[in-house]
Amino acid sequence: MPKSFRQRYEALQIEALLAQYPGLRIVPSQDERLALKGTLDFHVIGPANEDIADSYEITLTVRPGFPKVLPGVRETGGRIPKDYHKLHGGELCVGAPTEIRLRLREVPTLLTFVEGFVVPYLYGYSHRERRGTIPYGELAHGNDGIRQHLATMFRAKSIEQSEEFLRLAGMKKRTANKLPCPCGSGRRLGRCHNRSVNQRRKEIGRHWFAAEYEQIAELLKLYDDVETPLPPLRKHRLAL
Ligand SMILES: [Zn+2]
Ligand SMILES: [Zn+2]
Repeated sequence: MPKSFRQRYEALQIEALLAQYPGLRIVPSQDERLALKGTLDFHVIGPANEDIADSYEITLTVRPGFPKVLPGVRETGGRIPKDYHKLHGGELCVGAPTEIRLRLREVPTLLTFVEGFVVPYLYGYSHRERRGTIPYGELAHGNDGIRQHLATMFRAKSIEQSEEFLRLAGMKKRTANKLPCPCGSGRRLGRCHNRSVNQRRKEIGRHWFAAEYEQIAELLKLYDDVETPLPPLRKHRLAL
């Protein structure tokens, strides 16, 4: 049975989000999406104790299927330029979708999304405006950002191996261990990088990886042709 609007609101815990960010409000939407609009105020102490208070005008569009389908965020105050970590169509590139979904798997609420990704993104931009740099460890943008996240997760040496590691993590341990290790050592996974894969599979469950693998080709296509920003802005910040 489809969930009522009220049930959907409750599942998203919108009240918790509005309590934390009272400058946001729900705006009427004509379709299944849910839109929030307004001012997002934050005061965050980031890496190296940089204390930043700022506010941005944003819209947050929650699509049916959340948290598998991620919300879209736009900055509507005209402050963040087109070539700074934006996707085609102008939504903010707040992080690698695999990483965001992994986080939402634990606490699938809008507050997790906003606090974990939207605020750190905006914090990074404010920091860059004020001091000229992005205060995070850096991740590649777009397509490479997704591969970089996966490579870090599996402790792979190169991002080229990411998809194969993801595929093996989505399989049963016994099956995967018999297959060649994606690192190219010539050994079977069971005698090579099995530790990092098994550990992740155990923590997260192979079905999560299998679901991500199923859509990885599409995901990479989607992020393939995101803008190529100016060289100093190519890198991506990690979430706080
Ligand atoms: Zn980006
Ligand atoms: Zn290996």
